[in-house]
Amino acid sequence: MNQALALRFGIEADEAAAGGMLTIDLAALAGNYRHLCRMAAPERVAAVVKADAYGLGAAKVARVLHAEGCRDFFVANLIEAVRLRPLLAPGARLFVLNGLLPGGEAACAALGVIPVLNSLEQVRAWSALAVSRSVTLEAALQVDTGMSRLGLSASELETLASDLSGLAGIQLVLIMSHLACADEPDNAASPRQLAAMRGACERFPGVPISLANSGGVFLGPDFRGDLARPGVALYGAAPSSGAANPMQPVVRLDIRVIQTRTVPAGTAVGYGGAHVTTRETRIATLAAGYADGLPRSLSNSGAAWFDGKRLPILGRVSMDSLMVDITALPDGALPPGALVELIGPHQTLEAIAADAGTISYEILTRLGQRYHRHYAYPASRASGQGQS
Ligand SMILES: *Cc1c(COP(=O)(O)O)cnc(C)c1O
Repeated sequence: MNQALALRFGIEADEAAAGGMLTIDLAALAGNYRHLCRMAAPERVAAVVKADAYGLGAAKVARVLHAEGCRDFFVANLIEAVRLRPLLAPGARLFVLNGLLPGGEAACAALGVIPVLNSLEQVRAWSALAVSRSVTLEAALQVDTGMSRLGLSASELETLASDLSGLAGIQLVLIMSHLACADEPDNAASPRQLAAMRGACERFPGVPISLANSGGVFLGPDFRGDLARPGVALYGAAPSSGAANPMQPVVRLDIRVIQTRTVPAGTAVGYGGAHVTTRETRIATLAAGYADGLPRSLSNSGAAWFDGKRLPILGRVSMDSLMVDITALPDGALPPGALVELIGPHQTLEAIAADAGTISYEILTRLGQRYHRHYAYPASRASGQGQS
């Protein structure tokens, strides 16, 4: 068998062998990046690619966004930076949101990644390293403007601003804060955080400002700084709750049917017999479960879709499988191997998240590695990219 044929066979075998197919539309990702750039202009737009780009593959996502002109990337922690830094173009900047953990300073400097300094101790450690080596090290400084998660308090910021020797050896390339309620356009917390941020930035004139996440980009011009930091909107999720989603879908998930059966009324389905049929019911068992990121909270609550019909989940979601009611479909419509939709045109990320009692972020980041992944590349970049 020649090489191309072997590869082709390998891909097909993988596709047939996996319990489901995760399709990731990188052209839609690129379109979403361009839309965010238009919304945020003249502010520049970074990409938050933590948690493996919200489960979609940080290396591929970063490559596509770099081609769209993105030069700033954010991960959550140093181990993610260690993995991603060598795959990023040399001129691109990589920030570590969770900052410096004690002992991580040298690795951070060696990698050439930019820590987000979240406390005076982190500022001291980064400054000490720079001074001891007689070099200048870049850093972002985070201010806590009302989320109580990460960053310097107003008084700590004052301490730093009143004695700039604390920043010896550090070149501040960004001052940033994070909005707690940016997805709720009318929430009064956001203007309060904005006011606090403006006060903080006055103490560090000339340092570029970063405030908006996905939701923040849609809060209007007041929330514009120099660099927006969207994550979830890039990946097609709605940036604001209660409004139409302006982003293009990036993710599609289809799961295979393993087996079907017809059972009479009064039949228990799945672990714990948590569903008992009330009429003759045709059931399909699907090849994905909570180990594939379909939350157990979808038990007796969520659905799959096929041919425009909703197929309610019956009973509990198992680790590797779940059951759906296919009585609404004609006999034989779903033979073993057929694919049904879990995320796609009939069921958005937000819809499945709502059925599971969670948010789109958690659905995305739990998708895992057991599906066959199909990446669709932007047309201009299709050559040489292959599909994997
Ligand atoms: C995760 C994160 C973002 C991206 O948030 P989205 O809501 O996904 O756009 C931006 N900034 C910080 C500090 C974050 O932790």
